[in-house]
Amino acid sequence: MELKNKICEISKKYDSFYLYDEKIIKNSISNLRKVFPEIEFLYSVKCNSNVNVLKSIFSEGFGADAASLAEVLMARKLDLDKNKIYYSAPGKTSKDIEVAINESNLIADSIEEIRRINMVSKSLNKVTEIGVRLNPDFSGKASKFGVDEDIFYDFLHNNSCQNIKIVGIHVHLKSQELNVETLANYYKNMFLLVEKVQNTLSYKLKYVNMGSGMGIQYSKSDVPLDLDRLKNLVKDNLSEFKKHNPDITIFIETGRYVTAKSGFYIMKVLDKKVSYGTTYLILKNTLNGFIKPSVIKLVSKYEKENPVSWEPLFTSKDAFEILTFKEETDKKEKVTLVGNLCTATDVIAEDIVLPSMDCGDIIVINNAGSYAAVLSPMQFSSQEKPVEVFLSVDGSIKIN
Ligand SMILES: *Cc1c(COP(=O)(O)O)cnc(C)c1O
Repeated sequence: MELKNKICEISKKYDSFYLYDEKIIKNSISNLRKVFPEIEFLYSVKCNSNVNVLKSIFSEGFGADAASLAEVLMARKLDLDKNKIYYSAPGKTSKDIEVAINESNLIADSIEEIRRINMVSKSLNKVTEIGVRLNPDFSGKASKFGVDEDIFYDFLHNNSCQNIKIVGIHVHLKSQELNVETLANYYKNMFLLVEKVQNTLSYKLKYVNMGSGMGIQYSKSDVPLDLDRLKNLVKDNLSEFKKHNPDITIFIETGRYVTAKSGFYIMKVLDKKVSYGTTYLILKNTLNGFIKPSVIKLVSKYEKENPVSWEPLFTSKDAFEILTFKEETDKKEKVTLVGNLCTATDVIAEDIVLPSMDCGDIIVINNAGSYAAVLSPMQFSSQEKPVEVFLSVDGSIKIN
């Protein structure tokens, strides 16, 4: 297998690294496009902001869902048109707004922020088209994100902000949803919400950003998202909605659906020792390079049975597999995988049975393309950081 050969080749040079396989990224993108040709997609940069990953995704026509000014500027640096960048995050400062107003579409996260954008826009002597993130009635819960519907309508009735025009709405309620009925209902609710907002505004919106939610199969017990079924469930509502709103752009933004499966994290065995009958494999850059196993360990310490997910830090106890490139027939051994940090909390797995490993062998973790490198505390203990390797469709390798 080509991927395996590449990983082995790269591991001669690096003791720990991420590998992102572009083929898998392109494949997820084409699945989304096939199912929803009438929908535009935004890539949630925060889940993996590797520059080669971004280039690959933007080259497929995806826009950017930016969660910070830095992400806006990252996308701009890669020549993404500012009209394709949507900046949605709570707590934007006036300074963030001053820069981003010329580099992206701003999505206000609160009434205060609408006013702040209005002020900046006024000082520039212009009228800025903005989106507003809503916390819709169908969510029915308090949220730090967005504006409650009733507060939003009250604002619209008394709106004195002359230097902004609201042209879009955005809602994102949940990540890692695998139930297509739930997603389909969510999209239907979004279509109704657009009509309600448009009735209040008395004009048509330019876009609706339906957020994300699309989950991926992390463990064997997860049923992968059935995109064809999702399409069938929303088809009628979608075409009805498009008929009434022929000019609206519908966005779905997604991070993990595009990248999670493309990523692998590879660690070399640096040392092997036995203590009181436990065989330890000391790996390169565990907690600091890939934080998820340590979080799983932490959660499991306090919640033994069925800990609920806490995305994106904790998905489930079996959110990835631990693989080796040994043969099935090789001698097996019970081992505990730990790291080279001076803390006992950098544990990958305890007492698992693997083919017998020696120093210099590698352990591979899958599902490491999203919320993996970006979430890991790489500054901790001033270790050499894992490199991020990008395997292009043409087989070439890029390291940034
Ligand atoms: C993080 C985030 C996403 C991406 O979520 P995924 O589960 O990675 O697809 C989408 N929209 C918003 C607003 C987000 O904050």
